[in-house]
Amino acid sequence: MKRGLLIVLSGPSGVGKGTVCAELRHKQSDLIYSVSATTRSPRQGETDGINYFFKTKEQFQEMIAKDALLEFAEYVGNYYGTPRDFVERTLASGKDIILEIEVQGALKVKEKFPQGVFIFLVPPSLDELKQRITGRGTENADIIDHRMNVAVEEMNLIHYYDYAVVNDQIDAACHRIHCIIEAEHCRKERFIEQLEEVKEASEKA
Ligand code: 5GP
Repeated sequence: MKRGLLIVLSGPSGVGKGTVCAELRHKQSDLIYSVSATTRSPRQGETDGINYFFKTKEQFQEMIAKDALLEFAEYVGNYYGTPRDFVERTLASGKDIILEIEVQGALKVKEKFPQGVFIFLVPPSLDELKQRITGRGTENADIIDHRMNVAVEEMNLIHYYDYAVVNDQIDAACHRIHCIIEAEHCRKERFIEQLEEVKEASEKA
């Protein structure tokens, strides 16, 4: 059976990764979303197990100790990490999975899954990005400044990614990501791998 694609969607805070992912989840029901664990407090409207698995610092450290996370990173004073088991089981079942994570974590995933598809979501401009972070109304001024500084540093890591998608409009950005996923499914390497497996099996038989 063909393994699923591991898709990583990163980009600076406030670029709209969450909204784009929610839209992709809605439109592309065969795309599985990896729910991260975090030590940050839930925002209004967020539900445990749907947006994140909300953990205490101790619970998160226990997950690290048990090697239960594929990657984790500290981001603006909180921990975020990807539960490993769910990702591995989804890929083995042949389904595609999308991880919406920040850049340090994405680079760690790239070391483990170089065959993954790494997409960087780009804001139309930095001014627009600040407006989006401010407009969300969920963070205080210090956190907004900190997130803006981190965002500029994060933008420098774009060259580690395979694709850059400008989030000028949610629908357009989702359409571009959908096209990338379709194209990645048509990569010859995926078929060559399968062909090799079939050849090996028939030689053994
Ligand atoms: P927020 O607090 O705005 O929900 O997320 C802050 C940042 O953490 C975002 O850039 C988000 O993509 C990232 N993030 C969410 N889950 C994970 C994760 O499992 N691992 C890593 N490395 N980053 C994550």
